[in-house]
Amino acid sequence: MRIGGLQKCSLIDYPGKVACVIFTQGCNFRCPYCHNRELVLPKYFGDTIPQDDVINFLERRQHYLEGVVITGGEPTYQADLLDLLKQIKQMGYSLKLDTNGSCPDVLQEIIACGLVDYIAMDIKTSFEKYSKATGVRLPVERIKESIALIRGANVKYEFRTTVVRPFCEFEDIHKIVVELGGKQAYKLQPFKATEKIINPNIQSIDQFNEHEIESWKAKI
Ligand code: SF4
Repeated sequence: MRIGGLQKCSLIDYPGKVACVIFTQGCNFRCPYCHNRELVLPKYFGDTIPQDDVINFLERRQHYLEGVVITGGEPTYQADLLDLLKQIKQMGYSLKLDTNGSCPDVLQEIIACGLVDYIAMDIKTSFEKYSKATGVRLPVERIKESIALIRGANVKYEFRTTVVRPFCEFEDIHKIVVELGGKQAYKLQPFKATEKIINPNIQSIDQFNEHEIESWKAKI
């Protein structure tokens, strides 16, 4: 298990819970606007944290933390993710998994084993633009399969999109909403460029602000 970082306490990453955040190292996507290049591009990888150290930390914090968030990189890209989830679950923690939805077979196993309590899945853009937004060729059927699995699972969940020009505009959000259908948690967030994004050219593109995105919500 490649663990690239550990945030010891967060009040915002697990809704309603005081949680720590485990960052897995490695991702199968190359989203040009990704902020986490040190968790995505091998040339920026730092030292990993031994899994035993993380488990020891969680044992010591059992009375202070309510939940654990596993994020990335892409956690489902890790060969031994299930072992880690099982270890954490046995300690009694609530578990939230953040995923890009590219590995529905792994998601299915996690759900079937009852290992997570909350899943947050990124939907990058409308399906026809997926390759452009993720920097890789991926059958979008896998994304659709993950959406269906999560919706059918007995866990809390949310879908979310970071709105980044030129990969995602109002028309794409509208298509996603139509695809999702019905009432469910779907969050939109504006994009703010930093110096560390994978493709620095994106820094010069004028992005949608919070007010513009709020007005889309009203329209939809
Ligand atoms: S934004 Fe997420 S899915 Fe995309 S490259 Fe970064 S970590 Fe991977």
